Amino acid sequence: MDCTCSKNSIEFYKNFQLQNFNTLKMSSIADIAFFPKSESEMCSIFKMYDKVHILGWGSNTLFSSLGVREPVVITKKMSDISFRKDIVEVEAGASVQKLSVEAYNNSLSGFEFLIGIPASLGGAVAMNAGAHEQSISDTIICARVYDTLEKKVLTFSKDELVFSYRNSIIKQNYPRYVVLSAKFQLQKKDKLEIKKRMDENTEFRKRVQPSLVLPNLGSVFKNPVLPDGEKLSAGMLVDKCGLKGFHIGNAGVWENHGNFVINYHNCTSSDYTNVIKKMYDSVKEKFNIELECEIVYAGQLSEFEDKVWKQLKKN
Ligand SMILES: Cc1cc2nc3c(=O)[nH]c(=O)nc-3n(C[C@H](O)[C@H](O)[C@H](O)COP(=O)(O)OP(=O)(O)OC[C@H]3O[C@@H](n4cnc5c(N)ncnc54)[C@H](O)[C@@H]3O)c2cc1C
Repeated sequence: MDCTCSKNSIEFYKNFQLQNFNTLKMSSIADIAFFPKSESEMCSIFKMYDKVHILGWGSNTLFSSLGVREPVVITKKMSDISFRKDIVEVEAGASVQKLSVEAYNNSLSGFEFLIGIPASLGGAVAMNAGAHEQSISDTIICARVYDTLEKKVLTFSKDELVFSYRNSIIKQNYPRYVVLSAKFQLQKKDKLEIKKRMDENTEFRKRVQPSLVLPNLGSVFKNPVLPDGEKLSAGMLVDKCGLKGFHIGNAGVWENHGNFVINYHNCTSSDYTNVIKKMYDSVKEKFNIELECEIVYAGQLSEFEDKVWKQLKKN
């Protein structure tokens, strides 16, 4: 389906500071940022530009300190959530935490794991977000996506989204497909049971993850699986390399868990990249394991960052 909309009505800002639009609080200036409020506004932006950067809640995105030249399209204002019995339809920019609470309010189970994840629905679908033995792919029926190559809206079934651990066809083909909305089938359950699971998840997060008072991007590396099927903790491997508390500039590995890197005070993307390079290199040298990075990079790369991110993306 083609979309039509007058581009004049779309909210946009030039030289836009992204610091409050990513959970690392990275200072980075976008040449131009758009805030579409509807699917048709979003589609009209894609007709104006061949390449854009889609930003949800920025909880997995490292922005370059050198800024972002391509237009940044921020989905936050496309945030409708609508329930029809046990089916819920959600726009790309909706907060997944709000979604989790609204599902609970409707006595629906399947989104308990989303409580505490500071993400948008679109980002969560792209990354196949998951935790506590649940993931986005468990309950999804289909997603409406914009194909920036064919310039049309498509509906992808769950199978066509090709989900795997923190991966999907959206991420695999980035930046070709943009999630506009998605539909999920949840399960009616006792509210007390849902609440209990949400509380347990919140409690667990408090124990093992930094709060956003310490700006971060969640887990840096995926937990590796060895050829014999054994699952390891990336944080434990980094920890065994003695890197908890390791700092470069104003970025450092969290003192309590080796898989989180914190922006302690206005760190640069180069500080952050340097720290994760050290983590990657140390684990490779000590255990001969090549960790796979969960985080996405956006914006202008310095020569050093280009080299490191090419290496990290290879895995
Ligand atoms: C404190 C903390 C805890 C976290 N806990 C978890 C956890 O338990 N489990 C987990 O899986 N992750 C976790 N994360 C990581 C992160 O929240 C997820 O990866 C999340 O899915 C990213 O969503 P976002 O909207 O913030 O994505 P962004 O950072 O905005 O974007 C991430 C990527 O998705 C793309 N994208 C965003 N929106 C769209 C769209 N509409 N269509 C197509 N592509 C899009 C972006 O272009 C980018 O490539 C955590 C992060 C933090 C900071």
